Amino acid sequence: MAGRLPIVCDSDAPVGDGDPIDPIPLAARGTAGYPGWLADRHGRHLRYLRLSVTDRCDLRCVYCMPEDGVPASAKEDVLSFEEIVRLLRVFKGLGVETVRFTGGEPLVRRNLPELIRMVRDEVGIRDLALTTNATALAPLAKALVQAGLQRINISVDSVDPELFARMTRGGDLSKVIAGIEAIQAAGIAEIKLNAVVVRGQNDERVAELVEWAWARGLVPRFIELMPLGEAANLGRDAVVSVAELKQQLAPLLADEAPQHRSDRGPAGYVPARHHPDRVVGFIGAVTDNFCHRCNRVRITARGDLRACLASPTGASLRDLMRAQSSDEALSLVVEEALYGKREGHEFYVPGVDRHHAVDMSRIGG
Ligand code: SAM
Ligand code: SF4
Repeated sequence: MAGRLPIVCDSDAPVGDGDPIDPIPLAARGTAGYPGWLADRHGRHLRYLRLSVTDRCDLRCVYCMPEDGVPASAKEDVLSFEEIVRLLRVFKGLGVETVRFTGGEPLVRRNLPELIRMVRDEVGIRDLALTTNATALAPLAKALVQAGLQRINISVDSVDPELFARMTRGGDLSKVIAGIEAIQAAGIAEIKLNAVVVRGQNDERVAELVEWAWARGLVPRFIELMPLGEAANLGRDAVVSVAELKQQLAPLLADEAPQHRSDRGPAGYVPARHHPDRVVGFIGAVTDNFCHRCNRVRITARGDLRACLASPTGASLRDLMRAQSSDEALSLVVEEALYGKREGHEFYVPGVDRHHAVDMSRIGG
């Protein structure tokens, strides 16, 4: 049985009531208090947008989706490519520099390479990244890189085919490996492997995954299970802390605390004991509150703005666009909503169960 985890929640707002987005007026453009870029009231500069392009997925990971899946949105409810391009122009105008495409499984969205090309050429955002389970990557790899994809995170919770199939409820590891090889051959600039660790499932196989990734020149990263959506049903004991993982990997790693890079998200990296060029990343989503470093904005496949991963609601930018709002009006809604972004997440709030309200497969991680 796991001990109780140290839970950090440093939200300065009253917890448990309201929404993590509190739209509040910000200083008007042209006045002294206006930040000049997309920022929140805590001074965080928001430059990184995670865009879910679909809420469909070909897998059913045990911590993300119920066995029968979740009802997928109707095609007309999901943002079209043209709507995505328009929204991203607005966000680029507000200083967003990076877009990560996610899902559901983003590769099940038809013509994803074409969308990536449109974002590069018509919006002008160059730092384009993708988070994928990679089962459908092999045939698309070359087209994605040619369209402008620069970085990819591939989710692999185990490199044992049977355990992989169990955790994904039917996934075929050989397709993922083919996808990894194809995207390496296509010359992508950066690849990371992400593994979510679940107690009683893959928690004793993490060293194997590290060695496997290093042997292929990849960066493995471990993510603490977040108690959101389907994972809330697994209970808090299913969460394996970064501290436990580091202990397990101690024979492979230098005796150092994880180093965070301000430009590269919530992961802290520890070098290998004997190979300083090899690293392992750790994302302490539960035990190490990374919110103070958060520079992210999220948009769901249906075009809802989410200021935080743990936020169940947010303004419908799709409805505003379909109601003929101007770009100026869209910018204002976005700026005001994100200015009110709370300082910390609220995964564990005594007496409040918001976990079941948040669906990772819709927000996209
Ligand atoms: N389908 C794609 C994939 O699996 O990479 C993209 C969407 S998935 C929701 C994005 C990431 O969220 C994956 O790395 C997945 O493992 C992670 N994820 C899903 N549910 C999670 C949870 N409860 N806690 C931590 N990570 C989670
Ligand atoms: Fe699908 Fe990704 Fe969720 Fe797994 S983690 S069910 S691959 S959306």
